[in-house]
Amino acid sequence: MFDGEVYIFRINCPHCNSKCVIAHSNDVSGGIDGLFVKDLYCHCHNPDCCASFVVRAAHTHYLQPPRNSVLDMAKALVKKHEEQLELGGI
Ligand SMILES: [Zn+2]
Repeated sequence: MFDGEVYIFRINCPHCNSKCVIAHSNDVSGGIDGLFVKDLYCHCHNPDCCASFVVRAAHTHYLQPPRNSVLDMAKALVKKHEEQLELGGI
């Protein structure tokens, strides 16, 4: 459950470790449904550095699956169980 704290995705410069801004992003998931992969184009805010670079961000796994998918999975299991009961003549 959401506990009220908000964490902001921050990127630091790989060269000087200063804060950076994400100028824009590019979806590189190739249109594959359910895949989240983006290239984040970043600029360092340190005036002595001014590096720009790309960070690739990707979804790896859920800590808590979306509610709809859990409900759908439960419904599918119940339906499968009911079908097995019908086939078994119970
Ligand atoms: Zn930098």
